[in-house]
Amino acid sequence: MAKKIRQIAIYGKGGIGKSTTTQNLTAGLAESGKRVMVVGCDPKADSTRLLLGGLAQRTVLDTLREEGEDISLELIMKEGYKHIRCVESGGPEPGVGCAGRGIITSIGLLERLGAYTADLDYVFYDVLGDVVCGGFAMPIREGKAKEIYIVASGEMMALYAANNIAKGIERYAKQGGVRLGGIICNSRNVDRENDLLRAFSEELGTHLVHFIPRDNIVQRAEIRRKTVIDYKPDSNQADEYRALAKRIAENKKFVIPKPMKQERLEEILTEFGLMVEMGDEYAI
Ligand code: ADP
Ligand code: MG
Repeated sequence: MAKKIRQIAIYGKGGIGKSTTTQNLTAGLAESGKRVMVVGCDPKADSTRLLLGGLAQRTVLDTLREEGEDISLELIMKEGYKHIRCVESGGPEPGVGCAGRGIITSIGLLERLGAYTADLDYVFYDVLGDVVCGGFAMPIREGKAKEIYIVASGEMMALYAANNIAKGIERYAKQGGVRLGGIICNSRNVDRENDLLRAFSEELGTHLVHFIPRDNIVQRAEIRRKTVIDYKPDSNQADEYRALAKRIAENKKFVIPKPMKQERLEEILTEFGLMVEMGDEYAI
């Protein structure tokens, strides 16, 4: 039987650590012999720079603009760390057109050019967004990625975003085969963050896949354009990313999420001290 490519989308609020986490975890998978492609789906186009090191990657949309429609795969896909195949969708000029359009164009083009070869074990889509909408919903709406992980932290806005993303996933899960594989905590050193993320995940009907500590080694690797796994393979942080890779490789828990109503989310945030109840002390 032909092996199936696991196609995985990583969602989460902007700046939460999706690209850092995705590149480190795919470096971990590649290190263990897996064949991986990473498709950056953020107009920022910085989803693969740690894997590519010094290599300049032109985005799919820029390449199309500059070279026309008749292009070869080599122009939009470059090999990075341990043969990870790297693609950046890119986006339109800021303020012009839908920022999600790059994703639709890119995936279509990758399919036509035969990028999804049978030797691949994983394709990761690193997708921007606090909500799952428009072009940014495309990888899951069209059933390209069947598995989703949400990156969050113990900060209020990250959890609001994660809950909103779960709402989008619920809708597409009910009409297709897409499922939530879990929550990844990228720590911001918030008090009781692990417990909070566990409670939050459980409430959504899913689980906390792994807790990634906050560590400045990430920045030290980043200024050298490297993943931590590449920069300091013996570090504790590298092992954390390997552990995350293993958890994802072995994950069996895929669910249709049960997003929270605003009140319930705020109850949990209050319970963990991220919000205070509006009581008399606010009546001035
Ligand atoms: P996103 O892709 O979600 O917008 P990034 O992956 O670009 O977010 O992360 C934003 C910044 O946060 C990165 O530049 C990186 O320096 C920092 N960062 C991410 N994860 C960690 C971590 N675990 N520890 C320390 N810094 C981190
Ligand atoms: Mg990013």
